[in-house]
Amino acid sequence: MVVWFRRDLRLHDNRALAEAASLGRPVVPLFVLDEESPRVRPLGGASRWWLHQSLHALAEDLAGLGLSLRLRQGPASDVIPKVVRETGAGRVVWNRCYEPASVARDTKIKTTLRADGVETESYAGSLLSEPGEILTGQGTPYKVFTSFWKRLRECYRAPPPHPAPKRLAPGPAIASDHLDDWGLQPTAPDWAEGLRETWEVGETAARRRLADFMADGVERYGIDRDRPDLEGSSRLSPHLHWGEIGPHQVWRAAAPLIEADAPGASGHEALLRELAWRDFSHHLLSDSPHMETDNWRTALDRFPWGDDPQALAAWQQGRTGYPIVDAGMRELWHTGWMHNRVRMITASFLTKDLLIHWRDGEAWFWDTLVDADLANNVANWQWVAGSGADAQPFFRIFNPIRQAEKFDPAGAYVRRWVPEIARLPDRWLHQPWEAPPNALSEAGVELGRDYPPPIVDHAAARERALQAYEKTRRRPQT
Ligand code: FAD
Repeated sequence: MVVWFRRDLRLHDNRALAEAASLGRPVVPLFVLDEESPRVRPLGGASRWWLHQSLHALAEDLAGLGLSLRLRQGPASDVIPKVVRETGAGRVVWNRCYEPASVARDTKIKTTLRADGVETESYAGSLLSEPGEILTGQGTPYKVFTSFWKRLRECYRAPPPHPAPKRLAPGPAIASDHLDDWGLQPTAPDWAEGLRETWEVGETAARRRLADFMADGVERYGIDRDRPDLEGSSRLSPHLHWGEIGPHQVWRAAAPLIEADAPGASGHEALLRELAWRDFSHHLLSDSPHMETDNWRTALDRFPWGDDPQALAAWQQGRTGYPIVDAGMRELWHTGWMHNRVRMITASFLTKDLLIHWRDGEAWFWDTLVDADLANNVANWQWVAGSGADAQPFFRIFNPIRQAEKFDPAGAYVRRWVPEIARLPDRWLHQPWEAPPNALSEAGVELGRDYPPPIVDHAAARERALQAYEKTRRRPQT
């Protein structure tokens, strides 16, 4: 039988693999690099880098079971039937993904294989709950997160864990691409040094990160999770995205303390609540596929987004003159990850201070995040922009200075990522343009030479955004 790995690059708690183990049939483990199926979005650069490392780790882990991971490239609807013919497999199994393009493709593959007399089975496992499972009393999907979370919390029961198989019988040795030939890693230039310094990739690393966070971190998560200057959150997002660890595993790790009402369990509860945002985003995208590219709330369709390539480039490169925004954008570029609070600040700055469409920001995050995830990215961008479900209302505009003072109070985060202004006293660090000339010269900073002046005045930009929004609201529907 063929076990088709997708975004479940792990051996533990992998239902498709567990099924193969229970049936005892010879197994061909397969990964397909499919960027050609209709509407499937090609991976961004940082995701490609992660995938390379993750497949490498998975291949080693599978080798320990006696299996050799097979790699193929092309539209999965061509590749899977071809592999079935080459191996003579009578059964293909996989774990489900929920992006609309995946669902359409996988449904087609199932139909084709079954018509050819090949058994297929797919399993849940990459979310706590599948789209369509958590519904309102009227049988419709939730549009407000708090109610969704309440319902999920009431109905969710973690399924029994599936241990990693010990050994599996190998299927026929068919040809495989070489991972290096896929060119997933950047070479000229090699921009991945920061990613290599920051991340350990693969299931073993993911399990260790979860265990470490449960041992040290989660108790303070409820308090520290908003602080980019601390390691206050789990940093599990790329591992969860690629399925190196599954959400049920996180739930099982956190739930016993909550059930025992143990001290510090509020951090565990907060973690599960954040995990549920992931489900909520996937349910939203599944119910409203148009939100991948268009406003979930059509009221924002008439919003007069601007076109300012220079401002977009300044935002991407971390030289807006707002230190907390620049710190976030540089952290993203260097590590492939950005703290959630700073994601919100930078996204608000792009959409509201610069009036640049959320789609441009979403595309940049897609390319640069190691955890780039279609549902999470579009839902969160739309949440900040005010066009999403249960979104931040448009008129709530993040003030980058107040946010920085609150969540990076001693300036450690900004000093790390914007070292050219590190010697400024705390008082001026988050707004260097307000610093008196002697404070700037003592810190060795000349604005415009060492660090840019702000590209917009936040107070004026805020007014401009509110006026644009007001006009949009008043403009009659066409
Ligand atoms: P923790 O705080 O430890 O949370 C645990 C897990 O819960 C995360 O790993 C993640 O899987 C999930 N989670 C937490 N917050 C959210 C959230 N708001 N929405 C959905 N899931 C959440 N997350 C992505 O995984 N991929 C993206 O492409 C992505 N794009 C984003 C874009 C914007 C503009 C914003 C504001 C947020 C985005 N997020 C995205 C959500 C969030 O910022 C990250 O999941 C989080 O920062 C990951 O860090 P962590 O693993 O330490 O999270």
